[in-house]
Amino acid sequence: MIWYPYEQMKTMKTPYKIIDANGVYLYTKDNKMIDSVSSWWSVIHGYKHPELNKAIISQVEKFSHVMLGGLTHEPVQKLSDKLQSWLPGDLNYCFFSDSGSVAVEVALKMALQFYMNQKEEQRTMILALEHAYHGDTFKTMEAGDDEDYHFVLKAYGPSKYVVHIPTKIDALEQAFIKYHDRLNCFIVEPLLQGAGGMRMYDVSFLKRARELCDQYGVLLIFDEVATGFGRTGNRFVADLVLPDILVLGKALTGGYIGHAVTVANKKVYDGFYDDNPEHALMHGPTFMGNALACSVALKSTELFEKQNYMAKIQKIEQITHRELDGFSDPRIKEIRIMGGCVCIEVYDSSILKGYQQFAFERGVFSRPFLKYLYAMVPYIITEQELIKVLDTMKAWFKL
Ligand SMILES: *Cc1c(COP(=O)(O)O)cnc(C)c1O
Repeated sequence: MIWYPYEQMKTMKTPYKIIDANGVYLYTKDNKMIDSVSSWWSVIHGYKHPELNKAIISQVEKFSHVMLGGLTHEPVQKLSDKLQSWLPGDLNYCFFSDSGSVAVEVALKMALQFYMNQKEEQRTMILALEHAYHGDTFKTMEAGDDEDYHFVLKAYGPSKYVVHIPTKIDALEQAFIKYHDRLNCFIVEPLLQGAGGMRMYDVSFLKRARELCDQYGVLLIFDEVATGFGRTGNRFVADLVLPDILVLGKALTGGYIGHAVTVANKKVYDGFYDDNPEHALMHGPTFMGNALACSVALKSTELFEKQNYMAKIQKIEQITHRELDGFSDPRIKEIRIMGGCVCIEVYDSSILKGYQQFAFERGVFSRPFLKYLYAMVPYIITEQELIKVLDTMKAWFKL
């Protein structure tokens, strides 16, 4: 018996059973639908991509996995070399793990231990954003501010170790003045907060955050698990403002297999690099640096670069604006568009009830949550297919 995610099993509607997938399409026994969710924002090249398939199949014929404790291999070395040269600044030190949540845990652990290694033991606190989402494990839930988790975390009472602020510069400045010598890091989903409701904010906030982090000696962490690889219309938001630690996941493997990476800069790496064994980073997921994941991630990165995905994403943003600018309905609170992400926020979650089936019947897979009807399409989508996704969203309000 399968226990499905984020579902009350007693009232859950039967999920659609997928029997094949190709390009932007998911196939059930008797329907074909465009995946407007990209399987939780990860399948950026679409399904059954010939080159990604080839990369993973040729690795499986050598070996699928060996542990990274005491062993190493070409796929993980090539991927870390690639990331080192491809990522901005001195984000050069790649710690791999099996999921975004774990990679964020690693980032938070790095930030804490970075200061413990220097005997700054009062720096136990994390600064984070309201409506943040950083994953489903305990510390990431605590750093996050997801309404769905408040219920379970209530058992522990208010957190002593995390402060949440809105994406406003004055709140940011006040938090630094108040907590600076107790903070080890400021963690954000840069520019686009995904699971917290596709909220978008300005880069000036991040630029000010970088200044304050430098001024007060606090590490800046970008959780780009969702925003990385072009989703905001930037390759990485880290290209605009450089963090000390960058976390990538979801699209890292083109959505083929779970993998993530926590990339540190030299300053962070050097905080662990000495003769004291206790200063080592004590972490090591069983499947970190998995050879299949690394092979497909390397190929995915190469495709992204060679086939000029940034232009594809720009086109998606342009078409989305053209189709949705000026569209309105009394039930719609706001329409937000950034890069390859569009969100229609409505006034009440009941307004979206039944949308999933409505879209299914029109050949689109969608999974609205709370008050948010959104699309994060695979970047290979054609103009016609994208228009179909957007028309389906609009049609719901014309009923
Ligand atoms: C999805 C997500 C995570 C968690 O990644 P998993 O692979 O699901 O553990 C963390 N941070 C952000 C911003 C995400 O969108």
